[in-house]
Amino acid sequence: MSAQAGEEEAIAPAAVLRVTELSKRYASLVAVDRVSFTVRRREIVGLLGPNGAGKTTTINMVLGVLAPSSGLIQVAGLDLARQRARALAHANFAAVYAALPGNLTVAQNLRVFGLIYGVRGLTARIESLLAEFGLERLRDRKCGVLSSGEQTRVALAKAMLNRPELLLLDEPTSSLDPSAAQAARAHVRMLAREGGCGVLWTSHNMYEVEEVCDRVLFLSRGRILLEGDPRALPRERGARTLEELFIRLAREPLEARERR
Ligand code: ATP
Repeated sequence: MSAQAGEEEAIAPAAVLRVTELSKRYASLVAVDRVSFTVRRREIVGLLGPNGAGKTTTINMVLGVLAPSSGLIQVAGLDLARQRARALAHANFAAVYAALPGNLTVAQNLRVFGLIYGVRGLTARIESLLAEFGLERLRDRKCGVLSSGEQTRVALAKAMLNRPELLLLDEPTSSLDPSAAQAARAHVRMLAREGGCGVLWTSHNMYEVEEVCDRVLFLSRGRILLEGDPRALPRERGARTLEELFIRLAREPLEARERR
C-alpha cells in the first residue's frame, strides 16, 4: 500500500459501508431479516441470492429510498438515518430498473446528474467518461431511444460521475453483450483498485461473480446464509462450481443455515 493510501485509510474508515442488524418488513413478510455486513475500500462484494431473497430491498435501503424497519446503515462512517445527504454524497448506483430520463441526450443526462452531485470540472469529467464508456458517438442521442445495453453504459458512466467511495450496482451487466460486460467489469475493478471505491454488486451470473467479486454474501429469504471467497466457497462446501453451490443453497436454505 502506498504512503498516500495509508494516510487516506487513517482518515477515512476502512469500511465504506457498514450495515448492522438491518431489517425490512412488509406486513407479515420479512423481506430483510437482521442482516449485518461490511464493504471495505477497494473491495467488490457480491450480493447473491435467488429471486425474492431481499437483494434489491437491501440496496434500496442503503440508497436511502426505502426506510428500514430497524437497523443501522453507515456510509463512509456517516449514519444514513441522521446524516442522509452527507452520507449519500459518498455513494452512487446503477440499476436496469432506474432508467435515466429518456427525453434528455446522453451528454445532457451526465450534465444534469453532474450538477446535482456538484462535480468539479464537470465538462472534462463528462468527456472522460464518454470516452471511457465508448459513448462519444451517442452523446447527442436521447437516452430513451438507446438500446438497453447502451442505456446501461450511460447508467454506469453516470454512476462514476462523483467518483463515489461506495458504488451500488444492481445487476449492472444483465443487458450487456459479452464484450461490453467484460469492459464494464474491468472498469469497476479499476475503480475499486485504483480509486479506492467499495462496490456492492448483485448478479445472477456466477461466472461474472467469480471473476469480479472479492467476497460474496449469499442471501436467502432475507437472511445471510453464507459469506466468503467465491473461488474458495464451492470447494469448502463440497460443490464443483459456484453455480452448483448457488442452486443447492437456493433449494435447501434451511439446511445450509443449520450447518453454518
Ligand atoms: P430478484 O433477484 O428477483 O430481483 P431480490 O432478491 O432483489 O429479487 P427483493 O426485490 O428485495 O428481492 O424482494 C424481497 C421480497 O420482498 C420479495 O418477496 C418481494 O415480493 C417482497 N417485496 C418487495 N417490495 C415489496 C413491497 N413494496 N411490498 C410488499 N412486498 C415487497
